[in-house]
Amino acid sequence: MRLDLARRTLRLASPLETAYGPVRERELLLVALTDRDGLTGYGEAAPLEAYDGVGFERVRRALESYAPVLDGSEGLNGGQLLEACRQVEDLPEALAAIDLALWDRAGRRAGRPVAALLSSDPRERVAVNATLSARDRAGVAEQAARAVREGFSCLKLKVGIGDDAGRVAAARAAAGPQAALRLDANGAWSVEEAVRAIDALAPAGLELVEEPTHGLRAMREVRERVAVRVSIDETAAEHGALSADVADAVCLKISRCGGLSALVAAATLVRLAGAEVYLASTLDGPLGVAAAVHAAAALSSRGPMPHCGLATLALFEDLDDPLPPSDGHIALPMAPGLGVAPF
Ligand SMILES: [Mg+2]
Repeated sequence: MRLDLARRTLRLASPLETAYGPVRERELLLVALTDRDGLTGYGEAAPLEAYDGVGFERVRRALESYAPVLDGSEGLNGGQLLEACRQVEDLPEALAAIDLALWDRAGRRAGRPVAALLSSDPRERVAVNATLSARDRAGVAEQAARAVREGFSCLKLKVGIGDDAGRVAAARAAAGPQAALRLDANGAWSVEEAVRAIDALAPAGLELVEEPTHGLRAMREVRERVAVRVSIDETAAEHGALSADVADAVCLKISRCGGLSALVAAATLVRLAGAEVYLASTLDGPLGVAAAVHAAAALSSRGPMPHCGLATLALFEDLDDPLPPSDGHIALPMAPGLGVAPF
């Protein structure tokens, strides 16, 4: 099987401020896997070094090191191919791109969307949250009002970046009492800071606070001391985190899990441990978001799923969004494979 790589850059229309710094653009690696019959599957690597410490060059080198293995792979199935790559270098952000391309190829070969290969009755659409990225109260209010008008029922704000109370209050005032407000601190707080901040922000009415602090022990303590539901995102990468029972929900990402196959396995583990699971993009490109939509459509037919953070493609400028949210949902792409074209 032949591996081709192409570098792509997507710029955000305006920088996304997070507790780990502003994100202005995304450098992605488009992966094409072509088999002997000439059938190509497409995947994408979307490393975000500021988020999880794995950089673009490291992922590129890992993907290049998989090429000889894939080249001599005739006769191996998708799972065996992925394992062969893992033997060369076990880097989830790179393996995810291979895994996506293998699923895309499998779906194209079968003439079916990937979600239909994962589940016998995938949902036709996935509930997603809007992201309120403005740094100031007026901007947040404007984004919140627009999101509710567009049909979103869950709105997410980054916190731990300044004027949290003002922005949360502005979002609630503009969104009205019905909208779910979700906060993401990206681990900005210590246990004490998290408890203080959540107690102070809770009267606005919060659905969930994601990653208020980093680490399993700290998360367990915060959860015991606050009345708001909490979830883990970055901390989900820690050994044993998926079944640790330190949060009400776990946010899973295609890239960090190492692809669709591993994400579905991780989601099953989370649910068995009694927590809910939802998916988000790491500001992925179209193929990464599509893969997560397929996984969410399959998983949400098997249990409740909080809104997913997948309505992120609209944050990019000069990208014709192939998965535009409508009425707060992204429709499952029904074309064979991942259902979106390489970009
Ligand atoms: Mg997060």
